[in-house]
Amino acid sequence: MGPGPSDISPRVLAALGAPTVGHLDPYFLKIMDELQAMLRQVFRTENRLTLAISGTGSDGMEACVFNLIEPGDRMLVCVNGVFGGRMAEVARRAGAEVTTIEKPFGEIFTTTDIEAALKEHKPKVLGIVHAETSTGALQPLHHIAQLAHKYDALILADMVTSLGGLPVEIDEWGIDAAYSGTQKCLSCPPGLAPVTFSPKAVEVMDQRKEPVRSWYVDLSLIRNYWGGSRAYHHTAPINMNYALHEALRIVLQEGLEARFERHQLNHEALKAGLKAIGVTYALDEEHSLPMLNAVTIPEGVDDKKVRAQLLNQFGIEIGAGLGPMAGKTWRIGLMGEASREGNVLFFLAALEQCLTKQGYNLTPGASIAAANKVYAG
Ligand SMILES: *Cc1c(COP(=O)(O)O)cnc(C)c1O
Repeated sequence: MGPGPSDISPRVLAALGAPTVGHLDPYFLKIMDELQAMLRQVFRTENRLTLAISGTGSDGMEACVFNLIEPGDRMLVCVNGVFGGRMAEVARRAGAEVTTIEKPFGEIFTTTDIEAALKEHKPKVLGIVHAETSTGALQPLHHIAQLAHKYDALILADMVTSLGGLPVEIDEWGIDAAYSGTQKCLSCPPGLAPVTFSPKAVEVMDQRKEPVRSWYVDLSLIRNYWGGSRAYHHTAPINMNYALHEALRIVLQEGLEARFERHQLNHEALKAGLKAIGVTYALDEEHSLPMLNAVTIPEGVDDKKVRAQLLNQFGIEIGAGLGPMAGKTWRIGLMGEASREGNVLFFLAALEQCLTKQGYNLTPGASIAAANKVYAG
């Protein structure tokens, strides 16, 4: 119940253990094709260039930035947490002239903020994080892509934590490039980074004047392996692709809408439970992600001791605060398989015991009663 990796279904773990075939084996090529088709469904896009980069979410970030940016290009990055900051750093390393607009951790950007910056800086690419796992804030994107296009910029979105847990509408919103990771709401081990590129983004990549500065994530080469000539580029992590294939089957069998509703319901129940014992959100509740709940550590309560007790006595992992939120917040994850009624109730019961041990005053059972009230409808 931390910020990822999330719990993994036994079906996915079993898929991981299947015999390793060759990276050009017809069976594996079929897995790749199906994987791409399922990723398109989960990203809700028709984008042909949709595949899984061999690396974690950060590698997906590098793949998107390095392929879209040429040295000297302007990139505008919205920074309101650790991952926006990472995107800006990756862009600098790709040789971009980077401008950032910043908000305090936990806050989100308005269309006015973004339009002013687009107008002033005229970037080639606007980078923004949809679900900031470091702060627990949800950044609405549906009007921002239109704005980027109005100023002739491409929009690149970090969807590492949102994919599979929150509505992600690549085509409807007009997102040009996006990356994700496997270990958050897709509930697959870490190791692959789903990416998708709009026809416009592909056109921009096709018109590059110089080769991508990273050979490993050069999509002009990787594309030939996933489609086209099937030319060897690097040896695909075969078993990780089996695992993601199975994880996506589980997501689609549940159904995207049902999955989003499940994440929302468990979030509401957790929120009600925490509120009943006086534990508050570290950001405006309205902007809280359903899959990552950043709460303020109550005064007088020892951050490390509570997290250690949760882990050692109950086997529950929650996340510590990151960056300026370190020592001040806990990040309670309800991602993918971990977003379950049983987890919410068990966690609240365990937290009540840990907080009581810290001398914190609460009405025993109040959090569980409040969560159950949400479940009772
Ligand atoms: C986890 C995460 C990343 C980084 O992914 P890794 O798999 O750790 O490389 C990037 N962005 C966001 C929003 C994340 O939550």
